[in-house]
Amino acid sequence: MSNPDVVVVGGGIGGLGAAFSLTRQGLSVRLLERAPAFGEVGAGIQLAPNCTRILDDYGLLQEAKSLGVVPDAMVMRDAVDGDELTRIDLRDLENRYGYPYMVIHRSDLHGLLLRACERAGVELITDAQVTSYENTDDGARVTLASGETHEAGVVIAGDGLHSVARKLLVDDEPVSSAYVAYRGTVPAELPRVRSTDLSEVVVYIGPACHFVHYGLRGGELLNQVAVFESPKALAGREDWGTPDELDAAFAGTCDFVRDGLPYMWRDKWWRMFDRDPVMNWVHGRIALLGDSAHPPLQYIAQGAIMAIEDGWVLGEHVARNRAEDGTVDWGAALAAYEAVRPEHCRRVLTTSRKWGELWHLDGVAREQRNVLLRARDTYDYSFTDWLYGPTALTPDEEPPMFTPIPLSSAAVEDSKGEPLALTGSGTP
Ligand SMILES: Cc1cc2nc3c(=O)[nH]c(=O)nc-3n(C[C@H](O)[C@H](O)[C@H](O)COP(=O)(O)OP(=O)(O)OC[C@H]3O[C@@H](n4cnc5c(N)ncnc54)[C@H](O)[C@@H]3O)c2cc1C
Repeated sequence: MSNPDVVVVGGGIGGLGAAFSLTRQGLSVRLLERAPAFGEVGAGIQLAPNCTRILDDYGLLQEAKSLGVVPDAMVMRDAVDGDELTRIDLRDLENRYGYPYMVIHRSDLHGLLLRACERAGVELITDAQVTSYENTDDGARVTLASGETHEAGVVIAGDGLHSVARKLLVDDEPVSSAYVAYRGTVPAELPRVRSTDLSEVVVYIGPACHFVHYGLRGGELLNQVAVFESPKALAGREDWGTPDELDAAFAGTCDFVRDGLPYMWRDKWWRMFDRDPVMNWVHGRIALLGDSAHPPLQYIAQGAIMAIEDGWVLGEHVARNRAEDGTVDWGAALAAYEAVRPEHCRRVLTTSRKWGELWHLDGVAREQRNVLLRARDTYDYSFTDWLYGPTALTPDEEPPMFTPIPLSSAAVEDSKGEPLALTGSGTP
């Protein structure tokens, strides 16, 4: 086999997106996936306009829309009493950002990218577990568990949360949030689905738990996600997040949420880890991408989107740093990538953590949060402009962050009209 221009490690959404983007720039790309077959586990995924804009640029948006659902609204409710707190009109949001907010089954998004890679001529190799990475005189090399090696002008490591490549740049470990996610889909013919508005993405936020639902596959399925803080994790136990904790975690929530729990898959759950942000993603001709660089907590639903954005930005910088004879100035392209993506992803990672804390408040803090959310104008985009606009290619294109509103600015009263005070723990 002759050496390709690029080796991509990892056939998740990030690796496939990068492989497609670089092939689109005329490069030859070989993708190495450790699993025996390509695939994605899990159920739904939300794709905001900063992702659908890129899918459109790739010529893949219509196919994505035909496989997914473009909902009318995103609604946030209190998980305890079920009351609506705030909503976003997703049709108006599409007008503002020029691209839709949509939801899609993970395997449909993964399949869409895989087919695009096949059509574009990406060399797709399975059963290829990369065990080490090294720079060479004119590029980089990876070694597989089998002992086989692959070399290219650049290696893109899209090898996920437990990335081997990341160790070249930083000596860190995934950070446990002590939260765990249960997922499940419900077929449309069941009464649970008939009692649910599939045109809405809904999140119920509650003390140390939340519950999300939305329709998938044109309304054939209801996707549900139940997330809670595991008491066993907090107690330092190894066996945390098990199904016996699920029902107890939601005992204090409203009927609609509790009625959804029997439909969760109980044989598989996802412990929620992220990592602290790092600002260096490039080691010679080896670059991190996707969860290997920036695994987030999922509260603002941007993990896969950031991975797709990384690949698109890399492709655009290849185009800007390519000589007429086709040679890529990889030093310049990777430097431009590293100049813009880590800061954006740092913002997403830190905001995701804060957003999760806000969702899971209890006591007076929960009431203060609810006051602030209820006061939000449906058409106020000051909290999404930093995220849903066009993906920045250079640091000066990165939009300013939103200004947080302090919880303490919301006055809450007890039943006698007396002001309630916030204690350090967030509970009265
Ligand atoms: C409950 C939950 C809900 C989420 N919801 C959303 C959402 O709504 N929107 C959103 O954008 N994101 C969401 N995310 C985040 C999103 O799923 C991830 O950020 C995204 O899938 C990461 O993609 P990736 O390709 O970088 O990594 P991965 O999906 O982890 O892919 C890595 C790939 O590399 C392969 N691999 C690993 N090591 C090696 C090796 N050594 N050699 C070869 N191959 C290797 C793996 O087998 C895998 O195929 C959610 C996550 C969770 C847990």
